[in-house]
Amino acid sequence: MFRTVKGFHDIYGEDIEYWEKLEGALKKLYKTYGFKEFRLPVLEKTAVFNRGIGETTDIVEKEMFTFTDGDGESVSLRPEGTASLIRAYIENGLGNPPGVKKYCYMGNMFRRERPQKGRFRQFTQSGAEVLECESPLLDAEMITLLLDAAKAAGIEDFVRMEINSIGCPECRPAYRKKLTEYFSARREVLCSDCLRRLDKNPLRILDCKNEGCKRVSEDAPVILDYLCGECGSHFDSVKKYLEKLGTPYTVNSRMVRGLDYYVRTAYEMVTDKLGAASAVGAGGRYDGLVRLMGGGEIPGIGFAIGMDRVVSLMKEKERIAERKADVFIVFFSGKAEKIGLSLVKELRGAGITAEYDYDVASMKSQMKKANRSGARFTVILGENEIESGKAALKDMESGSQKECNLADLAETIKKSLV
Ligand SMILES: [Zn+2]
Ligand SMILES: [Zn+2]
Repeated sequence: MFRTVKGFHDIYGEDIEYWEKLEGALKKLYKTYGFKEFRLPVLEKTAVFNRGIGETTDIVEKEMFTFTDGDGESVSLRPEGTASLIRAYIENGLGNPPGVKKYCYMGNMFRRERPQKGRFRQFTQSGAEVLECESPLLDAEMITLLLDAAKAAGIEDFVRMEINSIGCPECRPAYRKKLTEYFSARREVLCSDCLRRLDKNPLRILDCKNEGCKRVSEDAPVILDYLCGECGSHFDSVKKYLEKLGTPYTVNSRMVRGLDYYVRTAYEMVTDKLGAASAVGAGGRYDGLVRLMGGGEIPGIGFAIGMDRVVSLMKEKERIAERKADVFIVFFSGKAEKIGLSLVKELRGAGITAEYDYDVASMKSQMKKANRSGARFTVILGENEIESGKAALKDMESGSQKECNLADLAETIKKSLV
């Protein structure tokens, strides 16, 4: 017997109902905000991620599915969407003509993370990215959109929004220096990962899940005390606009996105319902990324939603049963088959989910199958009914049965389904 690869899983049954609901709700929401869908390849040259995510990140250091293809080129399954999208933006010349560009995407991502509850190596993210706009009003709108996504999924009670500013290349170095000094004086408490981060990227120590690192981080200097004038006023404007938009948030001065190209606004939608894996969606401004990847001086901001986590929360919130057929059609073999099958066709054509017994077995056996199918209605085409151009329509919930003209059947069923 074959089994799935570790960290990969099948999605089926009633889970599909949650996924379809979420995908549909997000697509609709993005559209109302004016986003255009982007379908990105699953495989990219490894260099795209090395550059676009950063060599010193956990993702690039140890979590990518990387292999050499037949031409000797190193390729990787995408671990996230932003780097690919920026690659596509530059490659396809989408900066011409200039103007605000809003893209959204949805798809599978791949990371060789340590398997743990609720974390998969193939997972699904939905993201939104906006390029060519620096306005703090956009930052506030992106944060609002992320919360609206939770609303659309029906899980807004389970999440809250945290925001921060992480400064810019002007003001961050001074903070970084202070942070390095602070942690250097407390080396003995840091985990081995953070000892490495100390030189390369001390901001990421603030993100470490290790208990010791978390404790020393509590009294570490906070970036908000080091923002330059421009970053400070940008952050003030973001907060002001969030208030105007009526979007609730709290400032978490310890939230960082430890990547050099991230600037200013960082935000996370967090939940207390999923244990340690607390972010269900996160994003930030990345004004330096397009330049870093070989494009122009183009500002950008985006977020990604962990859809698997959203689905977990949706399941806690409401139970959606697996969809069953609307109608099971029971008919005799022989000359009634033609009428039965054309009725199936007619009902399906009217958007009604219709099932029947492919064996066209005895009436009794077909009724049994109709019961087992869980269909909402059973249509019975008996000898008498066919003669008179009628069918018996049985409501499987109430058990009541009535006669109905074949010609009116589709309409009658449709009305009763709403
Ligand atoms: Zn600054
Ligand atoms: Zn650590």
